[in-house]
Amino acid sequence: MVPFNRPPYIGKEMEYISKVIRAHKICGDGQFTKKCHQLLEQMTGSQKVLLTTSGSHALEMAALLCNLEPGDEVILPSFTFSSTANAFVLAGAKLVFVDIRPDTMNIDETKIEAAITDKTRVIVPVHYAGVACEMDTIMEIARKHNLKVVEDAAQGVMSTYHGKALGTIGDFGCFSFHETKNYSMGEGGALLIRDEEKNEAAEILREKGTNRSRFLRGQVDKYTWVGYGSSYLPSDMNAAYLLAQLEEAEKINNARLASWHHYQERLAPLEQQGKLEIAHIPEGCGHNAHMFWIKLRDLEERTAMIAYLKEHDIYSMFHYVPLHSAEAGLKFGRFAGKDVYTTKESNRLTRLPMYYGLTEEEVNTVVETVKGFWR
Ligand SMILES: *Cc1c(COP(=O)(O)O)cnc(C)c1O
Repeated sequence: MVPFNRPPYIGKEMEYISKVIRAHKICGDGQFTKKCHQLLEQMTGSQKVLLTTSGSHALEMAALLCNLEPGDEVILPSFTFSSTANAFVLAGAKLVFVDIRPDTMNIDETKIEAAITDKTRVIVPVHYAGVACEMDTIMEIARKHNLKVVEDAAQGVMSTYHGKALGTIGDFGCFSFHETKNYSMGEGGALLIRDEEKNEAAEILREKGTNRSRFLRGQVDKYTWVGYGSSYLPSDMNAAYLLAQLEEAEKINNARLASWHHYQERLAPLEQQGKLEIAHIPEGCGHNAHMFWIKLRDLEERTAMIAYLKEHDIYSMFHYVPLHSAEAGLKFGRFAGKDVYTTKESNRLTRLPMYYGLTEEEVNTVVETVKGFWR
């Protein structure tokens, strides 16, 4: 049996969680949260990283920090998780979906400008599979039209674009540490803030609208309610679990990349025979092997492939149903321009097993079974 995903476990998680429990401080912003902040700042070069209770909540914080007004528009791909959209709907914005490019399944940067109106405020690039969107172009468009950029880098921890960590290029970056991601704390995420002057607003938002963070640093002598906010800080127990993994981030990343390259090498001949397509990583993108996807001829062939693999005890998963055609998508947004690739390509894509600890033998088994489908 080859499962689709196995949550990463490195070995030190238990010891670190015990430390939190013995210290009798399991609420948020304890010693392990602080260590995660420092380590993530070091790893990414971000001036400020704040752990959150989920990737969805990091997106919500980013959306709120964009200070949107009713009727404002946000540009995003339709091929993404509901959380990308929800964050901006909750902040009162209208969604404008733009088509994707078939090679990376990321937003097509050449189709963004045509979707901009006088109501547009934010562009949300989603780095699918941890492979960067064309950020130079996107940042240039944002500068030209005075728009904010929120990177949904939920899948992009340890990935880079021309040497810069994903999540650090736009105004805000959002990571997820959900169990299905490369680094896990069960449920959790992080907000990355590019400009220092946004730090305080983010801290207030995360601490129930209070200036408690300033108080803890001794900058004010009591803390009070200063604005709207919520509780976006995770328990230190979850941070302890995460720290164990972040400390081994390089090792986890290398192991995943080795599996990814193994898949690539062994499936390339099938691509040359025209049987399937695999991801091609654009120049300048350092990816993190978050997933290995293949594309079949069409929906019918994909469905058959997933069923065939399952018969052989291998678990492959298709991915997003495009948001613009979903019930909520119809209500909260519109598609700008033509849906050339979003629906067509999402119907063809399926993801092969990928996790830390996947062995070369398991990859071989998956590849041989995929080949067997055409026999
Ligand atoms: C996982 C994911 C999220 C949400 O993260 P959670 O931690 O599960 O809330 C958002 N966007 C994308 C693209 C994701 O893959």
